[in-house]
Amino acid sequence: MTRASIVKWLSTGVDRVLPARPGVTVLIYHRVGGGSRSQVDLPLADFERQLDHLAQVGDVVSLDAALSRLAAPDDGQRSVVLTFDDGTADFTDHAVPALVARGLPATLYAATKFIDEDRAFPWDAPPTSWAALRDAIDTGLITVGSHTHSHWLMDRLDPMTVDADLDRSIELIEHHLGRRPQHFAYPKALPGSVQAEIAVRRRFASAALARSRVNRPGRTDVHRLWRTPIQRSDGFEFFQAKASGGLRLEGELRSAVSRLRYRGASR
Ligand SMILES: [Zn+2]
Repeated sequence: MTRASIVKWLSTGVDRVLPARPGVTVLIYHRVGGGSRSQVDLPLADFERQLDHLAQVGDVVSLDAALSRLAAPDDGQRSVVLTFDDGTADFTDHAVPALVARGLPATLYAATKFIDEDRAFPWDAPPTSWAALRDAIDTGLITVGSHTHSHWLMDRLDPMTVDADLDRSIELIEHHLGRRPQHFAYPKALPGSVQAEIAVRRRFASAALARSRVNRPGRTDVHRLWRTPIQRSDGFEFFQAKASGGLRLEGELRSAVSRLRYRGASR
């Protein structure tokens, strides 16, 4: 059994008995149809099946709409927000057309250095381009936020480096896409240092971490939004449970594993 499957096996039994929770579930995708063996690179057919399910349930909203809901009193409604990290070419090649075909909104958190310098992401994933992102925004369904410029982990940088990196990312998105990014996601979903978090709060209307939890109206710090990672090995049933706000224990276990893994890394 791999570590991931042990986490799943441990958590599924508990999570199955927990009902779907009202609030906002934010899903994290990375790649779609990229053809790599990465756990976060979903075959296009799997992704389309997930979108068909979400479109049928009918609770996908934009990040901005979800933030308005979170600021309002709890009305017992459920909603799902789709987010993508990094800005690989497969996002605009495969994910955007699938989203547009179903009229579903999504947010991309772009690591701007890779796009601006045409640098490959891990797994040799080519970056998307500013032109392709402009086309995506023109559909009216895609929002582009920041995922830093350099994809550095924000918990171990000096404050000046953090400021410069965030500002570079904002400046490039504003210059190439014509609008200042309002939303931010921490690289590797790791929280920043105290100073980094202050820098993020000052610049963005929201910021996202990872943890498979539902964000509850009136009880959510929108600069620490919980996001639920979607992985290739999830399978459809597991995906449905995640999208309905289940699988909380899996989220807890996975974030504990992730904190250990990145403890000594710099990016
Ligand atoms: Zn990333």
